[in-house]
Amino acid sequence: MKVVHKIRIIFLPAIVLPLTLIVISIAILSFSYTKSIYSTGSQSGTIDSFVNTTQTMNALTSDTFEEIKRIAREAPETFENPDYIEKVNQALQKKDSYLIIRKNNEIIYRGTKEKHTEVESMLPQYGSTISSEDSGILIGEPENFLIKQQDFVFSDSEPGTIFILTNLDNITPHFRKIILQLILSVVLILFMTSSLLTWYMYYEFVRPINLLKDGTDRIREGDLDTDVEILNKDEIGDLCVSFNEMRAELKKSINDRLRYEEETRELISNISHDLKTPLTAIKGYSEAIMDGVADTPEKMERYIRTIYNKANDMDGLLNELSIASKIDCNTIPYNFTKIDIESYFNDCMDEIGSDLEQKNMDFAFFNYCEKHCFVMADPEQLKRVIMNIISNACKYSGAKNKGHVNIRLKEMETYVQVEIEDDGIGISAKDLPNIFNRLYRADASRSSSGGSGLGLSISKKIIEDHGGHIWASSKLHTGTTIYFTLNKVTEEDEEYE
Ligand code: ADP
Repeated sequence: MKVVHKIRIIFLPAIVLPLTLIVISIAILSFSYTKSIYSTGSQSGTIDSFVNTTQTMNALTSDTFEEIKRIAREAPETFENPDYIEKVNQALQKKDSYLIIRKNNEIIYRGTKEKHTEVESMLPQYGSTISSEDSGILIGEPENFLIKQQDFVFSDSEPGTIFILTNLDNITPHFRKIILQLILSVVLILFMTSSLLTWYMYYEFVRPINLLKDGTDRIREGDLDTDVEILNKDEIGDLCVSFNEMRAELKKSINDRLRYEEETRELISNISHDLKTPLTAIKGYSEAIMDGVADTPEKMERYIRTIYNKANDMDGLLNELSIASKIDCNTIPYNFTKIDIESYFNDCMDEIGSDLEQKNMDFAFFNYCEKHCFVMADPEQLKRVIMNIISNACKYSGAKNKGHVNIRLKEMETYVQVEIEDDGIGISAKDLPNIFNRLYRADASRSSSGGSGLGLSISKKIIEDHGGHIWASSKLHTGTTIYFTLNKVTEEDEEYE
């Protein structure tokens, strides 16, 4: 769920939840209030009775008052029965009320021990209009009383009045209690709701952010191995995923840099070692010439040719070094052109044929492509690849009289496959997967001189930049075949041109 939706969801209960709970608690409190205090009353606990208390008090005694009215009409002598009066009064006392019976102007029965003189002095006279009303009258000063009056005639024909007095002051402590309970429940509800929402906010937002912060601390301290735990499937979760990706990327780039630095160190040491060998030879042969050791023209020519060959080796090494640094900066200068593969390889073979002959190598070229099969390639860089592979075939031909190199071109549907096969020392299965790695040299070739471990990695880079693949198959002591592919020029390519 998105963070924005979560925030909306939080705000909804933040308003609705306390409101609902407050309404429910008011209803429960008012219900229990009226139920518990006026359990004998005719009116059940409703919000109405809670709000309009006078009406509630009035209703509480209305049943008794109705009965009194009926008796006054039908059997007024009942009011002279002390048992009946006591029974009615006891029932009224449970409702904060009591009876007063007046004969002439004298009170002959008072249903309470406490005498409210001033209230009694205000009681309406016999025949007063309120006697017919149901709701009675209210006295506010000095005490709050609701008075209901019913006139009747005693059996000795004396006028009599029966009053129900309800003390409204008793209601105030109940109210105080209920308001206190209400305030308490509102505070409790608000506290509970805010605690719930705070916990939710912590769980949903603060906890993942803390984990993220721990992650950044770990990275600052150099720990690039531990991922941040992803708790949510929202924007924060996405942020954690991106953070973990960034951590992995950072770790990779640091490892790459360390590897690159290590490789560069190794390269410098390899190259300086590899340059030293031809340089020592050049120095030795030059000194020999200067010292007059080359005393015959044949010797002189041999010495000079050796110096030339060694200088060529050095040139080759420096060339590889320069192309390797261009690979690092991705700045190999390509000049792609459409080339006829057959004529290109024929020219190549002419060029390298004499070289191979000199190195006591036989070679054969087999072209299985149709006439005018074109590929898109940079002729100069492609030559570098072919030369690298062929020079390896010479370097690793082993101690035999004559080495053989077979070069085959095979036409496939969309590409041309070039195969360069030798019968040299071969490569062990352990070394074979690594020979295209930079600076990798198989155990068998480490002792031999003239290898920098760059040739095949440079060839791989060039072939891949041409959109092709390069791989090898080999058998130790039998020979090696290096394969690479070059994409053919399609009709679409031609149209594009
Ligand atoms: P190097 O300058 O050492 O020849 P390369 O990148 O050209 O570097 O080759 C990497 C390694 O692969 C070589 O050191 C050698 O062990 C092995 N290798 C490459 N070509 C051949 C081959 N034709 N025969 C045997 N081993 C080979």
